[in-house]
Amino acid sequence: MNPHRQQTAAISIGRVTIGGGAAVSVQSMTNTLTSDAEATIAQIHALTLSGCDIVRVSIPDSESLAAFAAIKRASAIPVVADIHFDHKLAIGAIEAGADAIRINPGNIGAKDKVKAVAQAAIAREIPIRVGVNMGSVKRALLKRFGDDRVGALVESAREQVMVLEDLGVNAIKVSLKSSDVRETIEAYRRYAAISKWPLHLGVTEAGTLFSGSIRSAAGMGILLYEGIGDTIRVSLSADPVREVMAGNILLECLGLRDQGIRVIACPTCARACADIPTIAAQVEEAVSGIKTHLVVAVMGCIVNGPGEARDADLGVACDTNGAMLFVKGHPLKRLAISEIVPALLKAIEKETSS
Ligand code: SF4
Repeated sequence: MNPHRQQTAAISIGRVTIGGGAAVSVQSMTNTLTSDAEATIAQIHALTLSGCDIVRVSIPDSESLAAFAAIKRASAIPVVADIHFDHKLAIGAIEAGADAIRINPGNIGAKDKVKAVAQAAIAREIPIRVGVNMGSVKRALLKRFGDDRVGALVESAREQVMVLEDLGVNAIKVSLKSSDVRETIEAYRRYAAISKWPLHLGVTEAGTLFSGSIRSAAGMGILLYEGIGDTIRVSLSADPVREVMAGNILLECLGLRDQGIRVIACPTCARACADIPTIAAQVEEAVSGIKTHLVVAVMGCIVNGPGEARDADLGVACDTNGAMLFVKGHPLKRLAISEIVPALLKAIEKETSS
């Protein structure tokens, strides 16, 4: 584990601790209609199985709020309610059992409305996440800071957190997002230097599965490596389960989470004796929720295959007659190509249940 995490205050979202040296947690957000409780509960279940620590659900209207209590009751992981503009929805979500709420005090409106939300959160002892986005920074602030757009974003977060602190809120987490990766990095760095509150990292509007994963890994990877960030969400225009998979992989490869299955696969070339991308993707998808740490190698031919498969905890090296399964460095048995995925999953199950 990286010993140089920046010290932040610890807050609790349900049973998950954020900040104060706790393990960096992975979040995602449902993209079903919250008013459709059944679909939302099914998606939260899938996210839980994929290793999601905390899920966020938007509450855009009263129909969504009506479904929220049942969603919260059915969820095995803490649920954050995401509310904009309407303080009554925020209070309703808190009363319905939200483990935290995400608001932007700036768009909740008059001070008495923000105060009512703050008091409800204090009474239920749940944290508030202040999420500021470059797109929602007030024009006056942008004008005041001129070319220093990041300065305006940081000041916006500082002001909004101060509003909550003045109202007595003592459990806050903060996100400062821009769709520009470099602005995001700079904003978090500058805010981390002036605040004790734990930080929720994300690159907003990151993009599709491919480009969004890269942009998020670039931005969050740098910050996490510098010790900044207590919880993360990889925002993708894709199935949210992919967000969790990407988040878990990011933490694992930075040494911030020594759990989960790391699937390594060769890039393939003209020598490949099997469809390695499909095999590796099928294995990765099937094991994404497993917490035990294992390295599994899926290799296309005898050039690098046996060496990598031997070095991993489990591995397959394909050849012109099928593949060899390696377990803990030893060749165990020959497989037909069609047997690789089930054989690896069976071996993973054996290793992780022993
Ligand atoms: Fe090509 Fe074999 Fe290397 Fe895979 S292991 S990239 S198939 S040489």
